[in-house]
Amino acid sequence: MAYEYTKIADLAAYRKPAPHLYGKIVFLAKYGEQDLLLLRDETGSIFVFVTPIESGEPLRFEMNQIVRIHRAMVKRLPLKNVDAQVGKMGCSIVVWPPNGCQGKPSSVSSKTWTRSEGDQDRINELSALKWGSGTKMTTADEMADYMIEKKDTKKIRDTVDKIWAETHARFQMQLAKKTRGLFWTPQGAEVKAPQLEYEIVKSFFHPTQMTFKSFFQLVIVCPKCSEKKKVIKYTENGKAKWCPTCKESIQLVVGMRVPVDVLPNYTIVLTIPVKTIQTDALESCENDVIECFDRTADRETFGRVKKFQRSLQTFLNGCTLKNIEGIVVTKSVPLKTCIIYVNDCLISFE
Ligand SMILES: [Zn+2]
Repeated sequence: MAYEYTKIADLAAYRKPAPHLYGKIVFLAKYGEQDLLLLRDETGSIFVFVTPIESGEPLRFEMNQIVRIHRAMVKRLPLKNVDAQVGKMGCSIVVWPPNGCQGKPSSVSSKTWTRSEGDQDRINELSALKWGSGTKMTTADEMADYMIEKKDTKKIRDTVDKIWAETHARFQMQLAKKTRGLFWTPQGAEVKAPQLEYEIVKSFFHPTQMTFKSFFQLVIVCPKCSEKKKVIKYTENGKAKWCPTCKESIQLVVGMRVPVDVLPNYTIVLTIPVKTIQTDALESCENDVIECFDRTADRETFGRVKKFQRSLQTFLNGCTLKNIEGIVVTKSVPLKTCIIYVNDCLISFE
């Protein structure tokens, strides 16, 4: 079987299927149980955290070895990096010696491994790789350049530890500050969270864990209450025509309930109008959703709605949400929950 390998600069976070990649070790350090590798190819550099297999021979890494990873989990936060949990989800690693010889690999994570002609070519290419300029500059690239220039391993290691810890701490602090800030925002207040990216909670992607009614939400958009007084109300009545508060005639907007990952014990749920996702691949059926709420839907309609739900969940898998603008619908400080109706946001794959 021929594998396709993604160049480091082209690795995108959370894409499925998980990509395969090649790189040369330009730095390595122990991170608790994990090995932290900095891999580089012609296009860029990336950090790789290798989690060892629970049973079996540990992988041994050395500078300038060529590493091949199959089914790498590419993450993005706080930096774009690869999380290689060897043995999980088919992730496997083969390490070749620095000179790219035809002999046996230096280390393998599973008993069976393959080497095609293409593999040998790639190993030779990377062995001969001289770092040049013109690569896409990311934090990982900058660090790679720094480390290649300086040869003081101890100092390099300390620097990497420091930069890594600082980056991580900065990210956590920013998230904590913004998240806690949200809980001091009064109900009805406008939320603007640029610069902050949220990951969607994993359980969201299991269709069985989200029933039709826990996924879709009907939002009452009243010209008086929603637009002027910034009061957002949800309803389960698909026939609602008038605002329960002021009796103005209203519009029903179909939203989806998207929980996002924040600090431990805090819950933020975003209601994102399905209209926000505009793609030809998704056949929208908002009226069917409304029909399901007003209980007049037949089996066929309900089937379409469930399919629509699954498509939306699949579409969002691997996305992060950025530049959120919305209104605080309700919040509870003791329960640490906050529900936000999103007027606008950027759905990003990267
Ligand atoms: Zn109203």
